[in-house]
Amino acid sequence: MLILSGGTGTPKLLRGLVRVADPEEITVVVNTAEDLWVSGNLVSPDLDTVLYTLAGLIDEERWWGIRGDSFITNARLREMGVRERLAIGDADRAFHILRSDVIRSGGTLSDATEVMRKALGLRSRVFPMSDESVSTIIATPLGEMHFQEFWVERRGEPEVLGVRLDGIDDARPSRGFLDALRRENTVIIGPSNPVTSIGPILSLKGVRDAMADKIKVAVSPLDGDRPFSGPAARFMRAVGVKPNDEGVISILGEVDHFIVSRSSRYPGRCIRTDTRMDSIEGSTRLAKEILRLVG
Ligand code: GDP
Repeated sequence: MLILSGGTGTPKLLRGLVRVADPEEITVVVNTAEDLWVSGNLVSPDLDTVLYTLAGLIDEERWWGIRGDSFITNARLREMGVRERLAIGDADRAFHILRSDVIRSGGTLSDATEVMRKALGLRSRVFPMSDESVSTIIATPLGEMHFQEFWVERRGEPEVLGVRLDGIDDARPSRGFLDALRRENTVIIGPSNPVTSIGPILSLKGVRDAMADKIKVAVSPLDGDRPFSGPAARFMRAVGVKPNDEGVISILGEVDHFIVSRSSRYPGRCIRTDTRMDSIEGSTRLAKEILRLVG
């Protein structure tokens, strides 16, 4: 099965799916529209979170970085007057160096992801959505800014006037994504931000058409009319949709099975269940429910 992922909600589901399904049957395609270079290395926050989650290394408090990581390099840089855009842990940075060395020697982000996947000993396949650069740009009263500047440096405080995906018209899906779209019959759209995580993946050339004849399962990232965490509601409003499950479907498009929270007021056909994944048990329960649907 093919799973479309961002960097928090869907990884929570993945930690359950790899327990109840054969990891070798799982292909994850990950949003890369939040990527940025930090201190000379390419940070791909959603890819990192997916890879670390599958490897059992993720910091499950924050859903980024490696559990128990140290920050010696980041602190030293700060002492010398260098403020990194993202606070990068030392072990996390080692993976960023590994990735960036592949890219510096002429490889693609897909090549680099494969090197990381092997280094982590993963059996599931993981691909970036594209090997070409796409950047999520947030329009605010202070001007336009990269997603990470908005969310990390400015702590998500500015009003959100709009969201645009820089580079999306020229970006093609990665080879691994295209192969998975040809091979797999089932696509699971994970509970990730519909505007900034799933939106970029679905906006790549040809993706919606290729998904038309698949069995599509989507899990809502909302708990009723509000997200479990993060800025999804504000982004949804900024792109002109209501922050509820109707709004989610208006962005994703129609799916065969739509899994929503018990408090959802979605008027269409859907499966209402407990979609909160605060614990491994929550993740496993939801993963089992999805497997029951798709066989
Ligand atoms: P990002 O890349 O870090 O923004 O992460 P994602 O886009 O993958 O995930 C963010 C979304 O995950 C938010 O809209 C949250 O509401 C959703 N989310 C977080 N925790 C849960 C959960 O336990 N269950 C569900 N269904 N969604 C969740």
